[in-house]
Amino acid sequence: MTGQAWIIDLDNTLYEAGSNLFDQIDVRMGRYIAQLFDVDRVEARRLQKDYLARYGTTLSGLIACHDVDPYPFLDYVHDIDVSSIERDPSLSEALEGLGGQRFIYTNGSQGHAARILAHLEIDHLFNGIFDIAAAAFEAKPAQSAMQRCVDTFDINPHMATMIDDMASNLKPAAALGMQTVWIDTGSPWSSAGHGPHVKERATCLKSWLAGDTPKNEQQGY
Ligand SMILES: [Mg+2]
Repeated sequence: MTGQAWIIDLDNTLYEAGSNLFDQIDVRMGRYIAQLFDVDRVEARRLQKDYLARYGTTLSGLIACHDVDPYPFLDYVHDIDVSSIERDPSLSEALEGLGGQRFIYTNGSQGHAARILAHLEIDHLFNGIFDIAAAAFEAKPAQSAMQRCVDTFDINPHMATMIDDMASNLKPAAALGMQTVWIDTGSPWSSAGHGPHVKERATCLKSWLAGDTPKNEQQGY
């Protein structure tokens, strides 16, 4: 069993939400659906967001409702320009400073995660990537997917910290006894599902790792 473990989300957590990366993925999901069902952009968008709301990810809805092959979808939606995120030596240093093993847990694909890590030149700092395929296409925040991630990497939940920009995604981690850190991007979908399972809040992964964000500091009078 691993000692200390860090389970870190990819999109809008490892790189900041201010980049346009996820916007590109979002647009490409809509295009894929428009082509798949031969519908216009408006209807494709409606379907995309309906599946996202009902199944946790658009892909999970496409699989459940239409038995869509996930792999061409994943290849298509992640075929994006990643050059807008820049390598940041201070992020590398902050990650390196974390004792224990580091893992990526993403609702995206292994290939997408590997590409981002390589682009940021931090791939050597991670011990594994747990992607949507590894999760048997059960999106976060499925408890079963979290358990599968823990089992895959032989993680001791009581010595693990999960970090994610979606507050709701932290619930299964907290249920297993993990420490949880929410990266608050300021968006409504980031804070959706906020609750006692969120142990700490930060606005930026790098700052939190570097210790610039107060940890567990009580606020108020
Ligand atoms: Mg995210």
